[in-house]
Amino acid sequence: MPKGAITKVAVLKAIAEYDALGRSEFLAKYRFNEARSYLLMHKGREYDSKAIAGVAHKWDHGRALLPEEFSGGKDHAAAWLKRAGFEVKAVKNPDWARDEIILACDLVMANGWRGLAVNDPRVNELSGLLQLMPIHAEADRNEKFRNLNGVARKTFDISTRHPDYQGKPTNGGALDIQVLHEFLARPAEMTEVAQLIRQGINVGDLQALPLDDGEDPDDYSAPEGRLLMSRHKRRERNKGLRKKKIAAVLKQGGTLTCEACGFHFERVYGDRGSGYIECHHVVPLHQAGEGRTKLSDLALICANCHRMIHRRAPWPTPGELRITVEFRRASSLNDPDSITQQQSSITLPADPVLLFDEDGRMFILHDSALAEDLIESEDEFREGYDGYGRPVRAQGDPGHVTLELVATEAQDSELRAHVQLYYSVFATRHPTRIPPQETDLAAFIRAVAEDWVEE
Ligand SMILES: [Zn+2]
Ligand SMILES: [Zn+2]
Repeated sequence: MPKGAITKVAVLKAIAEYDALGRSEFLAKYRFNEARSYLLMHKGREYDSKAIAGVAHKWDHGRALLPEEFSGGKDHAAAWLKRAGFEVKAVKNPDWARDEIILACDLVMANGWRGLAVNDPRVNELSGLLQLMPIHAEADRNEKFRNLNGVARKTFDISTRHPDYQGKPTNGGALDIQVLHEFLARPAEMTEVAQLIRQGINVGDLQALPLDDGEDPDDYSAPEGRLLMSRHKRRERNKGLRKKKIAAVLKQGGTLTCEACGFHFERVYGDRGSGYIECHHVVPLHQAGEGRTKLSDLALICANCHRMIHRRAPWPTPGELRITVEFRRASSLNDPDSITQQQSSITLPADPVLLFDEDGRMFILHDSALAEDLIESEDEFREGYDGYGRPVRAQGDPGHVTLELVATEAQDSELRAHVQLYYSVFATRHPTRIPPQETDLAAFIRAVAEDWVEE
């Protein structure tokens, strides 16, 4: 008989022996240690699950298993006992997942980066929310799972990791620190993420997600957490939407070509690839919320590029990824002609473009392809920067003006100085008159573009 094939009768016999000898003598006799992860529950009493499972083998297999012959975890002892019809509970609750830490960190930030007392109503509310989250299976939780004490303690663990905290950190792991720093770097974005997770749990939308269904291990590190990521992917896989998008592109005379690398499935795979392309939802997770997906939110993208986009945040847009792909292609080619040809396409500015006139007024171009329609002459603007902060200039005859990159290096401080000037001098009707605070330049530019008020 294979290891682990134990019957209910044999387990009951092991339990009887355990009761007769007492815990320490039973463990000593068979050389087992006290259970660290799972306990067997029987008639209201707790038993060391690994020792019981090992000893049960004595009746089913002729000899008890030695402790080193198997593990006590959910793949061995705990699973065998469950299969024999017994209740097994986790001694230790699972580590906090990113989604959970995001919610806790959001509370700590709202509390001025101080931990929350166990009787704080917000701790109570978060505890309830965490218990509803579908991330950890019921079987891996015990009765203390995310209770008031545990949640309050976590908020202190996080608060003691704040760079301004004087003193020794209490506890907590690398993931706490990572999420904390994401909050410090992108507070508005992370607060939105936390709100979306809360909302999704409260309306029941996120509970129903099949989390284990073909999931990409990279999802575990998605900055927005697993739940929003799963919902996002489910939207992208919506067959009806994909069909509509493909039909719309074909109707406009387009082809099913990857917007980032130009890959075309049918051209490479023949019939087998005909009509195939994936859809990427370009609205960042923290902004996507509940609303309906518009066709314009979807980009056609090949499977490789799609995976690369999702791999690390912030996600590049298909256009940004295209710049990377083209740049790398160009630098890997030795043929001088094709380098020139490729490089001409990397001089395209990335959206959005911020333009400044002679006096420092700011204008936003969300789609640089529209420059021709929007810019009347090449001297209309004095300075311009693309979505990566690289300087751009307008070129061409009136009515045919296009934008071109002047250099490939971002001009961070010059750009920020222009924006600052615009806010302090011209943004008189703007509610804050303070520029966005993002430290990441591309995020800063996006925020400025969204914040802009037309005068
Ligand atoms: Zn591609
Ligand atoms: Zn996607």
